[in-house]
Amino acid sequence: MNLSKSKYCNAIQCKKMLWLDTFLPAEKGEISNQAILDNGTEVGIKAKELFGTYIDIDFQKDLSVMLNDTKKAIESNENAIITEASFDYNHNFCSVDILRKMGEKYEIYEVKSSTEIKDIYKEDASYQHYVLTKLGYNVVKVFIVYLNSHYIRKGELDLNSLFIKEDITDFAKERSLTVENNIQEINEYMKQKEEPRKDIGIYCTKPYDCPFFAYCTKKLEKPNIFDIRGMRFSSKIKYYNQGLISFQDLLNEKINEKYKEQIDFEINKKEDKVEKEKIKEFLNTLERPLYFLDFETFQQAIPMYDDISPYEQIPFQYSLHIINEKNELSHKEFLAEPNIDPRRKLAEQLVKDIPLDVCTIAYNMSFEKNVIKKLASLYSDLREHLMNIHNHMKDLMIPFYNRDYYSKDMQGSYSIKYVLPALFPNDPSLNYHELEEVHNGSEAMNAYINMGNLPIGKQQELRKNLLKYCELDTFAMVKILEKLQEIIEKAD
Ligand code: SF4
Repeated sequence: MNLSKSKYCNAIQCKKMLWLDTFLPAEKGEISNQAILDNGTEVGIKAKELFGTYIDIDFQKDLSVMLNDTKKAIESNENAIITEASFDYNHNFCSVDILRKMGEKYEIYEVKSSTEIKDIYKEDASYQHYVLTKLGYNVVKVFIVYLNSHYIRKGELDLNSLFIKEDITDFAKERSLTVENNIQEINEYMKQKEEPRKDIGIYCTKPYDCPFFAYCTKKLEKPNIFDIRGMRFSSKIKYYNQGLISFQDLLNEKINEKYKEQIDFEINKKEDKVEKEKIKEFLNTLERPLYFLDFETFQQAIPMYDDISPYEQIPFQYSLHIINEKNELSHKEFLAEPNIDPRRKLAEQLVKDIPLDVCTIAYNMSFEKNVIKKLASLYSDLREHLMNIHNHMKDLMIPFYNRDYYSKDMQGSYSIKYVLPALFPNDPSLNYHELEEVHNGSEAMNAYINMGNLPIGKQQELRKNLLKYCELDTFAMVKILEKLQEIIEKAD
């Protein structure tokens, strides 16, 4: 078997994952996010700059070209930084993100776009250390290079503060024999012609969600323990291992009331639950005029603008529906131009659009509140107004979070993406699937990030679709509020 860093790491998580990926790749589910991949590329480029001048080994489909180019770079330089330096020992291939050559000594730097070190990163670097050591290279140091979450950009990017280099040399050295054994075991495992029998377990989500989970659980009765919302995966596996798998199995078990309620409602096809007084109590906290607010944000692994940390949420768009004292509905919106720092303009527009002392409603408001608080900390002239908006916010999620209103169709979730279709099952105007191009927050983020690179015509189309998507988020809130009022009136 020809192994690589990623194949080795997949097999460390679960050998069957590698087997399925090799022999049944069509069964793989989709879990990657383009923005994460792009962030990874950007981090890789910046991490290389950390080392000054470097020789880059170009990616080639024919790996032997990369191996040859690496050999040449090593042989013709006494001291050098070589990126994507590629090696193969006995069909175990690896490209080292950054290799430092100092005469006869070598240092390995494995770059990660994360803000913390995961055990799997150490396994990855240990595999590289093993390959190079077996080929006779004197590897004296092994580092993981990752992002410093406390870094806040001020002026020029300070790469030395942005990145953290963690020395894991001792771990990699001690791991050598284990890596060798692992490689042997993986090779044996991969010889199997029949699909290996392996039950699901905690490793199905650790360290990463396995893309074959749907395949490996396809024979389980539906709905089952893995459909319970909010329960930790480790607890689900515990019940699964006890044979408590289908909702029927779980119905009479001692489990948290919320989980039990989900099961009970779905199995017994119960009517909607309405805690009239509690919903009324919530509605009474809302005073007209009402401002329904929703932000869209994006994140950058490498902060492009001042006062931003890696992966901080940067608002670029909002939608605002307004119900005035006469119960009339109007709409305002903001969408920043691409490739600029959108924050100041957005904050200025927001304080123009939302007056002081009015009730602003969000769904899961902690997100909107955090965005506003951050803007207030940046712009002292707008601080008072922004904090006024912040302090007058109400959360429309509350009746659903508390299950004062609950329907079996919410499937245990209080997310607006479940609540909305449960309340309005046949309304295409409230169906995110009916939208073009942008259907969820991560698609909105990707669309905005990429918009600047598109031809003008395509940009305009994307802008239109982004605006429609965000508008639906706040329009949905308006409809949900109307529905709650209607339900209360009916119950009276
Ligand atoms: S779902 Fe679990 S058992 Fe199946 S391949 Fe993935 S990690 Fe392995």
